[in-house]
Amino acid sequence: MSTLAQRPRASFALAAALGLALLGIVVVATGVIVQVSGAAPDAGMPGGDPAPPAVATSAEPEIVDGPASPFDDGNPTVTKLDAGLLGALREAATAARRDGIEMVVNSGWRTPERQEQLLVEAISTYGSREAAAKWVAPADKSSHVHGEAVDIGDLEAAIWLGQNGAEFGLCQTYANEQWHFEYRESAPREGCPEAYPDPTYDPRLQ
Ligand SMILES: [Zn+2]
Repeated sequence: MSTLAQRPRASFALAAALGLALLGIVVVATGVIVQVSGAAPDAGMPGGDPAPPAVATSAEPEIVDGPASPFDDGNPTVTKLDAGLLGALREAATAARRDGIEMVVNSGWRTPERQEQLLVEAISTYGSREAAAKWVAPADKSSHVHGEAVDIGDLEAAIWLGQNGAEFGLCQTYANEQWHFEYRESAPREGCPEAYPDPTYDPRLQ
């Protein structure tokens, strides 16, 4: 009895194993199909279809400005800087490198849209437009939007530039922003002008 009873069980086990193997092939094949269809949107989607949420998010304008190397020739946050500022920045970054310090442009040139976004974020962070003004200028007045300012990271590099920037014409503009530097052509001869306590003291931003 026991041998007879085991035979169907064995063939059932065989069938089950076969079934699992087939299922595995289907799963693998489905995986391939999913991967292929995942790449499909690049090939073009039918015109009238509303875009799925994930695509809508990635289709938002790319307005992040940094970080970038001061030597990056492909990032507009660097390449759209004022020529005098960019030249000074690259000379300073080269000198910093000799001191073992790697300078990063956390933010240089910005679009007005990016500046506006930062202002909205600052108003949310600091609670009012007046408080935010100590940190972020409006889009029409920002030296970043004009390509005339760089925010330098990391902190060690910003400190290095605060100590050594004048000989390259790079000056910290605001006492409360250790990272924000602008080009002052006269600085190598005359030193940097005194920093404003914060941007609200800057006559250019009135
Ligand atoms: Zn800045």
